[in-house]
Amino acid sequence: MGCHRVNLELSEEQEAVRELAEDFVAREITPHVVEWDRAESVDKSIAKKLGALGFLGLTIPEEYGGSGGDHLAYCLVTEELGRGDSSVRGIVSVSLGLVAKSIASWGSEEQKRHWLPRLTAGEALGCFGLTEPGTGSDAGNLTTKAVRDGDHYVINGSKMFITNGTWADVVLLFARTGDTPGHRGVSAFLVPADTPGLTRRTVHGKLGLRGQATAELVLEDVRVPATALMGPEGKGFSVAMSALAKGRMSVAAGCVGIAQAALDAAVRYAGEREQFGKPIASYQLVQELISDISVDVDAARMLTWRVADLVDRGQDFATAASTAKLFASEAAVRAANNALQVFGGYGYIDEYPVGKLVRDARVMTLYEGTSQIQKLIIGRALTGVSAF
Ligand SMILES: Cc1cc2nc3c(=O)[nH]c(=O)nc-3n(C[C@H](O)[C@H](O)[C@H](O)COP(=O)(O)OP(=O)(O)OC[C@H]3O[C@@H](n4cnc5c(N)ncnc54)[C@H](O)[C@@H]3O)c2cc1C
Repeated sequence: MGCHRVNLELSEEQEAVRELAEDFVAREITPHVVEWDRAESVDKSIAKKLGALGFLGLTIPEEYGGSGGDHLAYCLVTEELGRGDSSVRGIVSVSLGLVAKSIASWGSEEQKRHWLPRLTAGEALGCFGLTEPGTGSDAGNLTTKAVRDGDHYVINGSKMFITNGTWADVVLLFARTGDTPGHRGVSAFLVPADTPGLTRRTVHGKLGLRGQATAELVLEDVRVPATALMGPEGKGFSVAMSALAKGRMSVAAGCVGIAQAALDAAVRYAGEREQFGKPIASYQLVQELISDISVDVDAARMLTWRVADLVDRGQDFATAASTAKLFASEAAVRAANNALQVFGGYGYIDEYPVGKLVRDARVMTLYEGTSQIQKLIIGRALTGVSAF
């Protein structure tokens, strides 16, 4: 009988790409984190820099401008970016993870040749337009409509909370075609963001991910050629769900990054800060906070690597991805909160890193499927009964 040895040792290539990401974060991200958070925008030039290093093309075939690479390498880069700034990590998770990878899997040859080289180079960004004001968890009942008109589709509707929304050059847009109700009536389109009738408004006042360009999209008689349809008509929900299954691995990896950043910050601070004449690290209750963070980091990372391993071996990974996303997102919230406790009052002001980690972590249990939705997906896989 064949035997697959569990191997948690990184290859030389994987370690090299992780180090590249770590150096990039130290040079290009860490010095600007507080300023970008306060300004409610990361510097947009970061996209080209990410592209230049190949971080927007990981796992995309080289013939389309990608840098190849396996999904564990992708998770390592995502973790490092998430350790630096979740707002930057999100640019990659969405433009590469949700959009470029969907084009690589579902796009026509023409769509791949047109969009992938630009997206992987960071010359263009993609956004993923699924959520609407009235449909979040219940995405299969979305109401944006695309009506066929000769060689074109005319699209009307609106989208909410779209990451990269105001920066994107292309929207992977989900709209209802025909009269079939529910998810079977949904189709996917690649809509250039400068198409007349498409308006984008920044969503301000977010608790976290402040540096990220989150937008509401309004579509009024947006006319696209029929060639903008991606994948078969009526298969859009499959496009969305296959993107989100892998996307959950990427969110989980970003959460590992947040939890690791919380651990690093808590350990450093506990060693420096003195109360009652001794470093606070010497108090057992502070060590408990730190060890709780550490267990969360390790467990979240192992669950995330398991997903990458399943993907790279061509196995079913969707339930494992929901498991990793559920655990890692809740772990990131706990870890950041524990780190804030270690920092005491200084954790509450934004000159110190942990307050931002708490704010950025909080969204992770909400997007790409809330924690409740992940539990329903896991429950469905185990019982064979769907709650949806
Ligand atoms: C910063 C940010 C960025 C985002 N980026 C994107 C993006 O790029 N593209 C995109 O398409 N979307 C994006 N989203 C949207 C995100 O995916 C949705 O917010 C999420 O799916 C939840 O939908 P909702 O907000 O409408 O909440 P709702 O679906 O209204 O849920 C409200 C509450 O009800 C619970 N609930 C709902 N249904 C059930 C059920 N059947 N059983 C038990 N509990 C249930 C939920 O778990 C939650 O606690 C983003 C959101 C945010 C905040």
